[in-house]
Amino acid sequence: MPYPDRSTTPTSLAEWQALATKLTLEGRAYVNGAYRWASHGETFLTISPIDGSELTEIASCDQADADAAVIAARNAFEQGVWSQLAPSKRKAVLIRFAELIEANGDELALLETLDMGKPIGHARAVDVPATARAIRWTAEAIDKVYGELAATPHNQIGMISREPIGVVAAIVPWNFPMIMASWKIAPALATGNSVILKPSEKSPLTAIRLAALAEEAGIPPGVFNVLPGYGHTVGKALALHMDVDCLVFTGSTTVAKQLMVYAGQSNMKRVWLEAGGKSPNIVFADAPDLQKAAAEAASAIAFNQGEVCTAGSRLLVQESIRAEFIGLIREALTTWRPGHPLDPATTCGAIVDQAQLDRIIEYIGIGQSEGATLVEGGQRIMEDTGGLFVQPTVFDGVNNRMRIASEEIFGPVLSVIGFKTAEEAVAIANDSIYGLAAAVWTSNINTAHKVAKALRAGSVWINHYDGGDMTAPFGGFKQSGNGRDKSLHAFDKYTELKATWLALE
Ligand code: NAD
Repeated sequence: MPYPDRSTTPTSLAEWQALATKLTLEGRAYVNGAYRWASHGETFLTISPIDGSELTEIASCDQADADAAVIAARNAFEQGVWSQLAPSKRKAVLIRFAELIEANGDELALLETLDMGKPIGHARAVDVPATARAIRWTAEAIDKVYGELAATPHNQIGMISREPIGVVAAIVPWNFPMIMASWKIAPALATGNSVILKPSEKSPLTAIRLAALAEEAGIPPGVFNVLPGYGHTVGKALALHMDVDCLVFTGSTTVAKQLMVYAGQSNMKRVWLEAGGKSPNIVFADAPDLQKAAAEAASAIAFNQGEVCTAGSRLLVQESIRAEFIGLIREALTTWRPGHPLDPATTCGAIVDQAQLDRIIEYIGIGQSEGATLVEGGQRIMEDTGGLFVQPTVFDGVNNRMRIASEEIFGPVLSVIGFKTAEEAVAIANDSIYGLAAAVWTSNINTAHKVAKALRAGSVWINHYDGGDMTAPFGGFKQSGNGRDKSLHAFDKYTELKATWLALE
C-alpha cells in the first residue's frame, strides 16, 4: 500500500477535533514484542500544550525496564532473527514499516500535534512523510552497500567489512519526535542491530505507536523496543548500561556531554550525538531576492515555533540593508501568527510545555535587559485557551556576545546583528560554541563560496534556508555534536569495521 488513501484526511479544525475524540491512546512501554507497564508500575501524565488537557498515563520506565529491554534486544541479536537476515529481507520489512506509517499518517500526525503542539498541517505534510521517507530510503539502500578489498600482495586477501554493533539505545527529543527517531532507528535496524528507543517524556505518544506498526511490519520481538520515561531514570540507565553497545542521541548539548561521561564510566559504548545550535543566517546586500530571503528568515525562526535545532536564530544583515530587511521580516512574520494547532490553516502552534514557555519568556526579558531593541512580538498570547503560545519575536541591535545571541533559546526569538564586510560576517558567525548549520545569501559566486567554506558548520545553505534530504549527511561541528544522521554516512555509526586477512598457501 505505497499510496495511502488521503481522501479521509480531516480538512478542518472540527474534523481533527472529532478524530481526536476517537483515538485510543497507548501509554505503555513495548518490550520483547509486547506492550507492558513499567516494572515498578510508575506512570506520569502527558499533558497537551494546546489547552492543558490531560492526554493519558504513560509508563515511567526505569533501570528494571532498561535491563529487561536490553536482555530482549541482546537475545534477539544473538539468535540472529534480524541481525542475520539477508539485507534484502530486512529491506522488505522496513519498507512495509514505512508504508504502514504512511497508511496511519492521520493518526500519527494527530498524536504528534496533541502531544507537543506543532501545527497539524505540518505534522501531516512534513513529519509523517519525512519519517516514512527516512525509513524507506535507508531500507532501499541497505542491500546496495558493499565492503572493500584491500590492495594486497598476490598471496593475500584483505577483506574490509561492516558488521552490526549489537544493542543500540536511541534517546531522542520532543521537537520532531518521529523524525528524530526515524533518523536513528532506520539505519540502526537496516544494518541488523537490535534497538531500544527512548522518546522524550514530553512527547512519547508517536514512538509508542510506532512499536505496533513495527510489529505489524514483521520486525521480530526484541529487535525494536520502546521505553518511555524520564532522562534521569531510564535514559541514564540505558546510557550507563554495560550491555548497550552504542548510544545515539539527539537533544541538548548539556545532556550530550553527560552521555559521553556515562559511556566513559561504563563500557565505553560508542556515543553519537546530535546536539544544539545557534545558526547564523547571513544576508548580504546583493542577495538575489530580498523578499524571498526575508520570507525564509521568518520561517527559519518561526517554523515549529522556533523549536528547531537548525533554527536561523542569529540573523546577520549587511548594514546597508538592515532597516529595509527588518521591515521585510516583520511583514513576512505576519503569516506566522500562532493559532489553534489542530486548525489546518495554522502555521505556528503551541510551545511544548510550561518550562519551555517560561524559558522563552525569560530570554525575551534578558534580551531587553541586555539592551537589544524589541521590534516585533515578545508576548505570551491566547492564555485564555489554557494553551502555551508565544508571539514570534525579533530583537534588533543585538551584539553577538549578548546571551540572546550566544545561548540556544529553542523558541521563536530572532536576534538581528549588523555587519559590514564578509570577513566580519564570518567572524561573527563562527564566534559560537555551536556549528550545526548556516546560510549565506548573495548573488556573488565568489562571496558565496568563500563564506560557505569559511563557515564552521555541518550544513551550509546558499540562497535558501534549511535545505537537505535523506541523500545528504546531517550533523554538527563543535558542540553541536559528532557523527552524522541520514545518507549512507549514517551506517558508519551502527556498524563495526572489521579487517579479515587471509594468507593463501
Ligand atoms: P534534552 O537534552 O533535554 O533531552 C533529550 C533527550 O534526552 C530526552 O529524551 C531526555 O529525556 C533525555 N535525557 C535528559 N537527561 C538525560 C540523562 N541524564 N541521561 C539520559 N537521557 C537524558 O533535549 P530536548 O529539550 O528534548 O530537545 C531540545 C534540544 O535538542 C535542543 O538543544 C536542540 O537543539 C536539540 N536538537 C538537536 C538536533 C540535531 O539534529 N542536532 C535535532 C533536534 C533537536
